[in-house]
Amino acid sequence: MTTETRADPDCLFCRIAAGTIPSDIVHQDDLIVAFRDIAPRAPTHILLIPRRHIPSAAELTEADGPLLGRLFGVAADLARSAGIAHDGYRLVSNVGRWGGQTVDHLHVHLMGGRAFDWPPG
Ligand code: 5GP
Ligand code: ZN
Repeated sequence: MTTETRADPDCLFCRIAAGTIPSDIVHQDDLIVAFRDIAPRAPTHILLIPRRHIPSAAELTEADGPLLGRLFGVAADLARSAGIAHDGYRLVSNVGRWGGQTVDHLHVHLMGGRAFDWPPG
């Protein structure tokens, strides 16, 4: 069992996925929505989310394998079409307060167009 729920009317990213809050959507399919971050921290900064409300990566289970395969496949396609695949890019999912998570709906940041430090701050 996961802690997934149906779309949460109070969740910002559920509302973006439903189209009730506008965003700059760059990809959508039956499982995944990808849209540009409202406060980009890199020349390319896209958020990929499952349509399903999953609070964070901590709630994923083995049954979510196909969902994650789709998400990472879409991320790679978007990186190629954004022209950042050759030089490389960063995929990151923050979990919880100390991880820097500010929206409690699972999302993966796709960031590129510049070099990133390691480890992140
Ligand atoms: P987190 O801090 O949870 O890892 O990432 C949340 C991201 O969502 C942040 O990078 C923030 O800029 C972005 N964000 C917050 N509100 C909105 C919004 O209304 N629209 C879009 N497109 N991005 C948002
Ligand atoms: Zn949600």
